[in-house]
Amino acid sequence: MYPCSCSIQQWDSDEPIPRSELLAGVAGKHGLLCLLSERIDKEVLDAAGSNLKVISTLSVGVDHLALEEIKKRGIRVGYTPDILTDATAELSVALLLAACRRLPESAEAVKNGGWTTWKPLWMCGYGLSDSTVGIIGLGRIGQAVARRLKPFGVKKFLYTGSRPKPESAVEFQADFVPLTKLAEESDFVVVTCSLTPDTKGMCDKDFFSRMKKTSVLINTSRGAVVNQEDLYQALVSGQIAAAGLDVTTPEPLPTDHPLLSLKNCVILPHIGSATYATRSAMSVLAANNLLAGLKGESMPNELQL
Ligand code: NDP
Repeated sequence: MYPCSCSIQQWDSDEPIPRSELLAGVAGKHGLLCLLSERIDKEVLDAAGSNLKVISTLSVGVDHLALEEIKKRGIRVGYTPDILTDATAELSVALLLAACRRLPESAEAVKNGGWTTWKPLWMCGYGLSDSTVGIIGLGRIGQAVARRLKPFGVKKFLYTGSRPKPESAVEFQADFVPLTKLAEESDFVVVTCSLTPDTKGMCDKDFFSRMKKTSVLINTSRGAVVNQEDLYQALVSGQIAAAGLDVTTPEPLPTDHPLLSLKNCVILPHIGSATYATRSAMSVLAANNLLAGLKGESMPNELQL
């Protein structure tokens, strides 16, 4: 049994903890509260040693955790689903509108003198009205995005995943389709799946070659779901119209990355859940997950391993 009070060793900075500090600091600890910027792999688990009983991550994504290794050692994992769904869905919609209506490019033109007069076809983009939207991963965030996009006049929702989810799809009358069909028929593709070995590199050359020239790709899941070299080619060649990314590989994206040279690619610095209220709620939940795990109690949100 664990005591109700615990001592805490904290990395008291907004900057990521250096790897060497993490490896030294985690030694002998019973619990670890981490961010998605920390890779919790065999090296960290070995450094922690057999005392480590619970890992609590300040994220819903768990692709930074070596889950097989964690499970093997009987370590429990807490995470933060649901409370960040609304903020992330809101940001996904904002990014979609920014990309399809060319907002950063237009705002830049106002500042740099590119705005000379009102011209019929200048800064035209693509709207949601009467469109087909394809959601890759109709989970919590995917559904919340669809719910927000529906009132814009979307005509049809498509989705893909590991299996049909009629109970989730009914609200949007969304059709479960193969990935290839989703690429071919969608005017907007929104990626909201988790990053797994199956989804890694899912949006690649073949995927983009099937998309319409007028279509827009939005990714708010994890950068590695999209093959960025293939995306660059698709955007440069006009194979697709535009993209909006909240997540990239690596993060941060180097400032000389080719994607940053493109006007039809809007890139944000992984701010999906970044509202004060959401980050605050995530922090409280992550702390409560950790404490419950330390006490051997059921966690508010425990990942089933
Ligand atoms: P959920 O678990 O509710 O949804 C994940 C979805 O991914 C499920 O619908 C699942 O579908 C789908 N999926 C899994 N495998 C595949 C596949 N092979 N093809 C298509 N879809 C697949 O998670 P959330 O909605 O809460 O979060 C989703 C992800 O969003 C997180 O894992 C995280 O990476 C990212 N995220 C990003 C944020 C940001 O700041 N940009 C903020 C928060 C989350 P199925 O059940 O059919 O397998």
